[in-house]
Amino acid sequence: MRIVLVGPPGAGKGTQAAFLAKNLSIPHISTGDLFRANISQGTELGRRAKVFMDAGDLVPDEITIGMAKDRMEQPDAVNGFLLDGFPRNVSQAAALDTMLQESGMKLDAVLDLEVEEDEVVKRIAGRRTCRNDGKHVFHVTYAPPKAEGVCDICGGELYLRDDDSEATVRNRLDVYHSQTEPIIDFYKAQGLLVTIPALGEVHEITKRAMEALKK
Ligand code: AMP
Repeated sequence: MRIVLVGPPGAGKGTQAAFLAKNLSIPHISTGDLFRANISQGTELGRRAKVFMDAGDLVPDEITIGMAKDRMEQPDAVNGFLLDGFPRNVSQAAALDTMLQESGMKLDAVLDLEVEEDEVVKRIAGRRTCRNDGKHVFHVTYAPPKAEGVCDICGGELYLRDDDSEATVRNRLDVYHSQTEPIIDFYKAQGLLVTIPALGEVHEITKRAMEALKK
């Protein structure tokens, strides 16, 4: 299966993507995680991306599309993948279509995680991410770690992502509305869009998404 997850920052894309990818036995490909890995490894790509990420802006397409394509071409992704955070604008969506067409493939579904803006701000402000692995994510009230500031999974330090600060979150939401939301219509026109209400228990939302995919 080839699936795209969309939704505003704080909709729980990373959390849902991890569960869905595991259930479907396909790799979870997050461009945000790839950028953060490049930043922590000190690569040139990471250095270039960080400026945009810290401001809550999109990293330019000429950096992002190549990085996403390289990842999708890895051997573990030949039979499918779940994209989390890519595409994030219409030109990335068009580039993905072209890339898939060239290899005789197509997307199976686009899941749109729908959540209200107030909830999004609450979720992001309380989010704490593990420095060792960006996929280990907690929330001070909704999913607190057993020991404050310490990752339950690996013992790493939990921190507030630089781009989760309030000012940056506002800009990320503006960017979402102006640049990412148009891809919802793009995929609706292709008959691929499935909207999943993303309020409630994490496992309940995963169940909704899995049921939608079965159809
Ligand atoms: P995320 O972890 O998906 O919230 O992404 C964190 C940040 O990485 C975003 O706010 C962007 O600055 C950058 N980013 C991630 N994916 C993309 C993308 N597809 N296009 C441009 N920038 C991206």
